Amino acid sequence: MADIAILSAVQAFLHKQHGQFIDGAARSGSGTRTIDVVDPATERTIASVSSAGSADIDAAVASAQAAFHGAWARTLPYQRGVLLNRLADLVEANAEELAQLETLCTGKSIHLSRMIDVGQSAIFLRYFAGWATKITGETITPSMPSMQGEQYTAFTRREPIGVIGAIVPWNFSMMIGVWKIAAALTTGCTVVVKPSEFTPLTLLRLAELAVEAGIPPGVVNILNGYGDAGQALIEHRGIAKVSFTGSAATGVKVGQGAMAANLTRCTLELGGKNAAVLLPDVNVYGAVAGLLQTGFVHQGQVCAAPERVFVHRSRIDEVLDKMSGGLAQLNIGSPLDEAVQFGPLANKPQLDKVLGYLDEARRQGQVCHGGRRLDRAGYFVEPTLVRAGSADDVLMREETFGPVISFLPFDDEDELLGWINDSPYGLSASVWSNDLSRVFRLIPRIQAGTVWVNMHTFLDPSVPFGGSKGSGIGREFGSAFISDYTELKSVIMRF
Ligand code: NAD
Repeated sequence: MADIAILSAVQAFLHKQHGQFIDGAARSGSGTRTIDVVDPATERTIASVSSAGSADIDAAVASAQAAFHGAWARTLPYQRGVLLNRLADLVEANAEELAQLETLCTGKSIHLSRMIDVGQSAIFLRYFAGWATKITGETITPSMPSMQGEQYTAFTRREPIGVIGAIVPWNFSMMIGVWKIAAALTTGCTVVVKPSEFTPLTLLRLAELAVEAGIPPGVVNILNGYGDAGQALIEHRGIAKVSFTGSAATGVKVGQGAMAANLTRCTLELGGKNAAVLLPDVNVYGAVAGLLQTGFVHQGQVCAAPERVFVHRSRIDEVLDKMSGGLAQLNIGSPLDEAVQFGPLANKPQLDKVLGYLDEARRQGQVCHGGRRLDRAGYFVEPTLVRAGSADDVLMREETFGPVISFLPFDDEDELLGWINDSPYGLSASVWSNDLSRVFRLIPRIQAGTVWVNMHTFLDPSVPFGGSKGSGIGREFGSAFISDYTELKSVIMRF
């Protein structure tokens, strides 16, 4: 097969001089740095973006504040829902353009960009649109005794918290931005988003679509830049709440910076070292298919992906054999080729990091499939399986965020739980078995924000998602996000 044709709209967008999107319009940045956007499949620079300077950051926050107190405050809840649905319509109408931009910037296969970054973004927008009319407080009858026959009643209001400073990583550059934009807008907040410096384009296009949908200027602003721009944004005194998704190391800095700046509320969605457990009765065919899909989708660059797999000793050879057979069938190549299932890593630092882990695995003599960089242009590495020597191995402990799964046999359930939980992370885990009694006993003992059964990495807008322990603070989706994007006000009345 061959690469799909790049739409003329995409080519035109790539050739524009990009910068920021502030107060409903594109602007070049006042920063001193230029961000080169590199296609990871070819290593060619495909666009350039001027970075935000402090004047842009002030302007974006001022615009978001004006909209928060002005046009957006006057927009009724049902209208907010209508506008988010209109944005979803426009995402669908411009699906191929957005998908091609996402693939060119991230190396994600085109069918995945179409299905996830575009298709699921529309679903998330529609889900959050529904919440706009359903955010409520409580009525309360106070218990304090009356002194002179007076009575009391009380109620709570959920008020939008203000301007959200959202920081987004590169792996799902549009969809993770959409999660934060939709949560902000449905609750009545406005937002300034800083995309990753590796993927600055899709959210710029989404912001144009937001204006086309009728969302007032200033409600959605995009600032492009490196970490320093992100830091200036989260420490800005006009930001009421920070919503960060990225690595644990940056998340700690962001949390500390936001607190120190202005006691700014903060939710952190961070990395993971996600465990999958295959119990003795596992359906090996189903588990292998599930692990191949969720461990290697987007070249393993998914925060919740299974990175360490504990297999009952009686099944591990069979599992590794079938995993290896499955990987041998994987079609590796250009992410713009519709027949390809596995493309390049998303950027050069990510390539260097993953190659470091592959070197480590080879040094330990643990690689049982793959393990090397591919000899071609682009940031391609082989999908890799590692048979670990112990739960303390580097590849069993550190997040690779790449196409590398490590396997370890287990015999004893208590020892297994010790290994799973002896990790700074607690994002997700999965258990593969039809022995439901055993599964339900394991679930409360696993320290993770999400546990899947006979599946892995299934995110749905109605189900809260977030990390325990070092994987983060707060939850996205479901009703759980509402408390993070609103301030609770209590009103007590005497009558
Ligand atoms: P990263 O932490 O390097 O960067 C994330 C974002 O933070 C980027 O936009 C970056 O410019 C910005 N940034 C960097 N330094 C900053 C600072 N001092 N202050 C403010 N912002 C700063 O992460 P990454 O490499 O882009 O993403 C990969 C990581 O994200 C992985 O660890 C992955 O597990 C995690 N992730 C988590 C989730 C989740 O929902 N839990 C989802 C996707 C990715």
